[in-house]
Amino acid sequence: MKNRAIVWFRRDLRLADNPALRAAVDGDYDGIVPVFIHAPEELGHWAEGGAQRVWLHDSLTALDNDLNALGSRLVVRRGPSLEALQVLIEESGATAVFWNRLYDPLIVERDKQIKQTLNKRDDLHVESFQAHLLFEPWQISTQQGAPYKVFTPFWKRIKQEPRRAPLPRPAELPPVWSRIGTVDIAELDLLPRIRWDKGIRQRWEPGESGAQRRLEAFLDEPAEQYDEGRDRPAVPGTSYLSPHLHFGEISPHQVMHRSEEWLDEHAKPAPREHIESFQSEIGWREFAHHVLFHFPATPEEPLDQRFKDFPWVQDDEALAAWRDGQTGIPMVDAGMRELWATGYMHNRLRMTVASFLTKNLRIAWQHGERWFWDTLVDADLANNTLGWQWAAGCGADAAPFFRIFNPARQGQRFDAKGAYVRRWVPEIAELPDKHIHEPWAAPKRVLEEAGITLGETYPRPIVDLKVSRREALDAFEQIKNT
Ligand SMILES: Cc1cc2nc3c(=O)[nH]c(=O)nc-3n(C[C@H](O)[C@H](O)[C@H](O)COP(=O)(O)OP(=O)(O)OC[C@H]3O[C@@H](n4cnc5c(N)ncnc54)[C@H](O)[C@@H]3O)c2cc1C
Repeated sequence: MKNRAIVWFRRDLRLADNPALRAAVDGDYDGIVPVFIHAPEELGHWAEGGAQRVWLHDSLTALDNDLNALGSRLVVRRGPSLEALQVLIEESGATAVFWNRLYDPLIVERDKQIKQTLNKRDDLHVESFQAHLLFEPWQISTQQGAPYKVFTPFWKRIKQEPRRAPLPRPAELPPVWSRIGTVDIAELDLLPRIRWDKGIRQRWEPGESGAQRRLEAFLDEPAEQYDEGRDRPAVPGTSYLSPHLHFGEISPHQVMHRSEEWLDEHAKPAPREHIESFQSEIGWREFAHHVLFHFPATPEEPLDQRFKDFPWVQDDEALAAWRDGQTGIPMVDAGMRELWATGYMHNRLRMTVASFLTKNLRIAWQHGERWFWDTLVDADLANNTLGWQWAAGCGADAAPFFRIFNPARQGQRFDAKGAYVRRWVPEIAELPDKHIHEPWAAPKRVLEEAGITLGETYPRPIVDLKVSRREALDAFEQIKNT
């Protein structure tokens, strides 16, 4: 009897450093069937948002091309996942099923059930692997055996653990025999009918090669000044690896390993601290997954239970202005428009717009979380939840609630020449640097010279930053000691 293996691709859309694929290649299998099963209904309301669906379409296409180059192809099926796997096991005569683990609560539950069911068969070997993170969330705990809720000791602990080296990419793969049918990627209907995705597709290159190129482009230059560059939204100062990491087109092992290798190759005095800062962001990703795994209700509920009683405001008009980038606060509007146009927003802006929504507008963080979910190409349940709870002050290692970002000050500090704001809010581009972040405070004459009529060509601020800050602090007083 022939031995055949199914490799179930999920959010590990790469061929290198893929333990599930490696197990199939290294095992004694005559046939390997790489499969992707599209089953958004199994993810409840955390199924891929609009921007992610565009990414997924292109990433699956790239994976199929990469598999073709090695002599194989991607088999695409529709869910439910268990049934799709069972059908494929029968069709292919598979004797093994391999996949890499993920940590979103609904996926953990689903995979557990699938494993239990498939394990009942004596003729099948079922195995899952660690690939999406540096370590399993249950491997790392405090001295008391509890999950970490503070980043610094978590990361210190992780750095002490020996890490494995990335696994090699297979040189070739056996062909998938022709009677194994596939759904055409286009039939998954991942692309929008009204093609709003042009900006996303112009900006990004989904797929494993795109991810590798991104990492090298980052190491080529921005990495050397990461500590300063990462806070300047007008310059390409960060890696832009987040969607690639989310879809597993590159693994955190590869990123850590390659950045260390690069340090050895570039014996320059400065880069070490910059690379260490960059690596600690990979640590935040790891931390976010750790928190999500141990506190699976956090995508919906605050980790800090006091915030369940926070007096949030229901204001649909203000929420719409925030979403549309029409708040009259240039930094906020620039961030929200970048997000809509490209599926991405710089981290400094994510913190700024999230603080503005949850504190100045006092709208519940879950509304922002949902909008990001639908519009970000890197929307990630772990990172997005942690980011929103961090900004709202109600999560693990969160910014204290009383730390309220002033968006105008953020602009003056991190976009001093206004280049970022001018790119995304062109209607105020003619304002001098001095007034670009606070058009409402500019003298009438300056506004006239810049061709601006507040309330007509650009909105007046929908809230007064000082007054709303005070109101937020008062609201916090109500729950502070509960
Ligand atoms: C409100 C809010 C929502 C966010 N939502 C998401 C999200 O849905 N998906 C997402 O990937 N990141 C999210 N982040 C974190 C961060 O903004 C992005 O990871 C980062 O901007 C991506 O750009 P980059 O790849 O160039 O980052 P780099 O600075 O180059 O960092 C390298 C990698 O580290 C990880 N990382 C960086 N910062 C963080 C962080 N604060 N938390 C967790 N991981 C981090 C990412 O995987 C990133 O690709 C959010 C932050 C906030 C404040």
